[in-house]
Amino acid sequence: MKGVKIDGTPSAEELHASPGFPQESIRKGPLAFIECVEEIPCNPCATACPRGAITLEGGLTALPRLDAELCTGCGLCISVCPGLAIYVKAREHEPGFSSILFPYEYYPLPQKGDPVECVNRFGKSICSGTVLSVRTAEKLDRTALIKVSFPQAYFDEVISIKRLPNQ
Ligand code: SF4
Ligand code: SF4
Repeated sequence: MKGVKIDGTPSAEELHASPGFPQESIRKGPLAFIECVEEIPCNPCATACPRGAITLEGGLTALPRLDAELCTGCGLCISVCPGLAIYVKAREHEPGFSSILFPYEYYPLPQKGDPVECVNRFGKSICSGTVLSVRTAEKLDRTALIKVSFPQAYFDEVISIKRLPNQ
């Protein structure tokens, strides 16, 4: 039993039972969080990780397992995931503030320094944040990587930002 799904979003029970989701992130620095809870034949995350921090024990349909000790939070696994299921969070980017590096496939892109609304995994705005960086590169295959800082009190909830309006 993997827990109960709510509106197609992984439940807290599913995530905490998942081998790719760090159980207790006490690390201040960046760490990958893998929200992949469906046993599908897929493994780009494992092949992209230069540290061997992601493994699929038991074959291609196994859930990805993260070795938090090996993960440096480089973010190379984020853009290769077709399910946009990976992000990197740092609990203490600076005193009182956390950061998240996440995939973003909408236009317009935010710009460095922009104020943004941070959302939880249900798409609900929960706090304000500030864009720290916007990475776009050919090798990212049109998946931009956005890094945002936000108040540390929302560390467990923030997973993305509210989509920006068309201009
Ligand atoms: S963030 Fe970097 S080190 Fe960590 S799992 Fe992803 S690719 Fe590997
Ligand atoms: S690449 Fe994404 S969808 Fe595929 S196994 Fe890894 S986390 Fe899951």
